[in-house]
Amino acid sequence: MSLLAPFDRYPLTFGPTPIEHLPRLTEALGGKVEIYAKREDCNSGLAMGGNKLRKLEYIVPDAIASGADTLVSIGGVQSNHTRMVAATAAKLGMKCVVIQEKWVPHYDAVYDRVGNIMMTRLMGADSRLVEDGFDIGIRQSWQDAIKSVEDAGGKPYAIPAGASVHKYGALGYVGFAEEVAEQEKELGFTFDYIVVCVVTGSTQGGMIVGFAAQDRAGRVIGIDGSGTPGQTREQVRSIVDNTAELVNLGRAVREDEIHINPDYAYPAYGVPSEETNEAIRLAARTEAMMTDPVYEGKSMQGMIDLAKKGFFPEGSRVLYAHLGGAPALNGYSYYYKDG
Ligand SMILES: *Cc1c(COP(=O)(O)O)cnc(C)c1O
Repeated sequence: MSLLAPFDRYPLTFGPTPIEHLPRLTEALGGKVEIYAKREDCNSGLAMGGNKLRKLEYIVPDAIASGADTLVSIGGVQSNHTRMVAATAAKLGMKCVVIQEKWVPHYDAVYDRVGNIMMTRLMGADSRLVEDGFDIGIRQSWQDAIKSVEDAGGKPYAIPAGASVHKYGALGYVGFAEEVAEQEKELGFTFDYIVVCVVTGSTQGGMIVGFAAQDRAGRVIGIDGSGTPGQTREQVRSIVDNTAELVNLGRAVREDEIHINPDYAYPAYGVPSEETNEAIRLAARTEAMMTDPVYEGKSMQGMIDLAKKGFFPEGSRVLYAHLGGAPALNGYSYYYKDG
């Protein structure tokens, strides 16, 4: 039975996401491991979708029950998460206030006008730019925004960065693990590794709990995109513990079941290295699969490098969780002016 049976879900996505074989990328990496992608980036018709919607499906019932009229959240200037919160608010007929902090030292002239933030504004959210730097924790600016809604007579519902430290934030990705198991039955094989980008932690944290129920949490390879892997690991650890208890996993998750590789986040959160950009180009040129310089380009880089280094034993099937994020590419156009 599903670990999620006791929880309400408000549908924001199309349903199970497709698993796609990537034969040209497989070949480009030497052909010793088979590469597949689970297309979380194609999961919804709401403003181009992405992983945050799978999380928000388990948060929305609580928001509705609270009687709130305004969703309040926080992210960087090119945040996918605030785009998804704005989309959810529009869909529910709620108002939305999002704080967008200067998490990224990046100065493309149109950075605060295109891609995610443009869509966020188009969907009617009150997007407030502030100067604070990168931090995945609870922020003063976010608390100020919640208070400003109250002061104006509204009823806010607060959603933390990445929807991660919310009590129900990781449930959606517990469901991801169950969905993969169902799809494997149809495919007639199982995946040996799941590669996933990690920053605020509830995507990987939920997966770890979901796959722990199948005794293969240790096969989830997180690729850090935060550049602050100590803080990210701590946050994943606490999300895993809280979620395991919430869903009655029935056992503690061991430290050796949490893998976070810190090697690909350089030079900083939100700034791609030359190797990240090469990974973005390779996925685009072999599979027409768009990855972004903040998140998925880094996990793509990690998967490519690990495959080339022989980290995955020959014959392994590797499932790349594509979490979305392509709209941010617009904010980095200078890097890609020559392709
Ligand atoms: C938010 C996000 C991530 C990171 O997920 P967390 O749950 O914050 O660790 C990765 N990729 C994309 C595209 C995202 O929007």
